[in-house]
Amino acid sequence: VAIIGAGSAGLSALQEVRKTTERFVIINDGPYGTTCARVACMPSKALIEVANAFQRRSVFGDMGIRGAESLRIDLPAALHRVRTLRDDFVSGILAYTDDLVERNIPGRARFLAPQLLAVGERRIAARKTIIATGSRPILPAEWRPYGNRMLTSDVLFEQENLPERLAVIGLGSTGLELAQALSRLGVEITGFESGRFIGGLSDPLVNECALHAISRDFPVHTGAQTEVAAEGDLIRVSAGRASVLVDRVLVSIGRRPNVDDLGLEQLGIELDEHGMPPFNPESMQVGDLPIFIAGDANGFRPLLHEALDEGRIAGYNAARDKVECFRRRTPLAITFSDPELVIVGERYAAVNDRDIVIGQTDFSRQSRARMAGNNRGCMRIYAARADGRLLGAEIAVPAGEHLGHLLSWAIQHRMTVFDVLKNPFYHPVIEEGLQTALKQVSKELGGKPAAELVLCHSSAAPGLS
Ligand SMILES: Cc1cc2nc3c(=O)[nH]c(=O)nc-3n(C[C@H](O)[C@H](O)[C@H](O)COP(=O)(O)OP(=O)(O)OC[C@H]3O[C@@H](n4cnc5c(N)ncnc54)[C@H](O)[C@@H]3O)c2cc1C
Repeated sequence: VAIIGAGSAGLSALQEVRKTTERFVIINDGPYGTTCARVACMPSKALIEVANAFQRRSVFGDMGIRGAESLRIDLPAALHRVRTLRDDFVSGILAYTDDLVERNIPGRARFLAPQLLAVGERRIAARKTIIATGSRPILPAEWRPYGNRMLTSDVLFEQENLPERLAVIGLGSTGLELAQALSRLGVEITGFESGRFIGGLSDPLVNECALHAISRDFPVHTGAQTEVAAEGDLIRVSAGRASVLVDRVLVSIGRRPNVDDLGLEQLGIELDEHGMPPFNPESMQVGDLPIFIAGDANGFRPLLHEALDEGRIAGYNAARDKVECFRRRTPLAITFSDPELVIVGERYAAVNDRDIVIGQTDFSRQSRARMAGNNRGCMRIYAARADGRLLGAEIAVPAGEHLGHLLSWAIQHRMTVFDVLKNPFYHPVIEEGLQTALKQVSKELGGKPAAELVLCHSSAAPGLS
């Protein structure tokens, strides 16, 4: 088995392959340590922790804690902490390939035929190949001449200090997280998003709540294409009627799967208009070839836990003669902004034309959130009208990551809103906000609320609702 890419998906595939065979090679171009640990999940969340800790000072006065005005952020020290943590995470990962000796091949792999790879001058005959080549940030060719004034997440965490003024172009998950964190660390941020939705949301109401909350941190311009022009050493960024002069631009307009230079045209399969090969997301098999594709490289669900699952599936199948299909987990995507944005199960865009019931909670009055001084945002859950089964939710609330997990587990187990409401809800907790939305759905579905406390012995009476 040949694995192309020693990122999260590739290493996960490697672990699975090694359960069956030691006849493998792993080929990696560029730095080891995975994108997630080096320049993505881990440094971004480390930065966000610092930014949010510093931001807490904004509620100190209201809480009777004095002296917040004199707190200051030491940016080089904060960035140093991010890199130190990052280096520690990366060093743990390097151990996976350290002892592989000649089975670990640094270099760029290309297909010459379905079972023949080239790495430089070297030829590798592989019965099965796993493509786990990840993705890279999109930087339009016309913006490249601006050089190091255009940043991407690949280089952001290497900065020793931060610019005074920064435009962030693209407010998907990555752009939003980084824009808000940098704004909270004192950078003058302006956010630009060509679409109307931020953080991957599709529910207009939740999007509105999110925009309202995020705009407290920095101005957000949506719905117009962004243009960029040099003005001396500075960059002018304009979209519609908005225009700002900044020192640097963070470009976060999406990521492109690293499949364009892989020689896929040698495989004898039809590629789509983006050059992507056909593949089965339950077996990861490419067409009916002895080739599997996992992680960001396939563009299906470009998230870490999905890359790990896909790597395992690809590894399992590549090490065996018979290709098996595996049930995928409930989709769960989190943006670590404040409020956190979560999309779980089916998105609003996928269910809004079906017969559904929607329950929603406005967190401006949520009691636990009020105590913390972060009572912002809202959430909406979607359930099937026919039987009350939970389908999905879009969330923009504090601690949304935890509500997202609870909901994803409920959806995974095909629970109805009535099933979920039978579970305990402590008081006072953020989860009570979820309970409110569930109760709304239950009420609308049941005519009167369904039983939450069920009678021990009798099925004749409904119990307590
Ligand atoms: C800023 C940011 C924050 C993120 N935060 C989160 C988060 O909080 N949670 C989350 O779930 N996800 C997050 N993600 C997404 C997550 O990082 C990715 O889904 C994950 O890293 C993808 O792993 P992978 O194995 O597919 O790719 P990678 O880890 O990139 O591995 C691919 C490897 O293949 C190598 N390669 C490429 N082409 C070739 C070739 N031809 N030959 C040999 N080797 C090659 C690459 O150099 C690389 O080493 C974030 C992404 C970004 C950008």
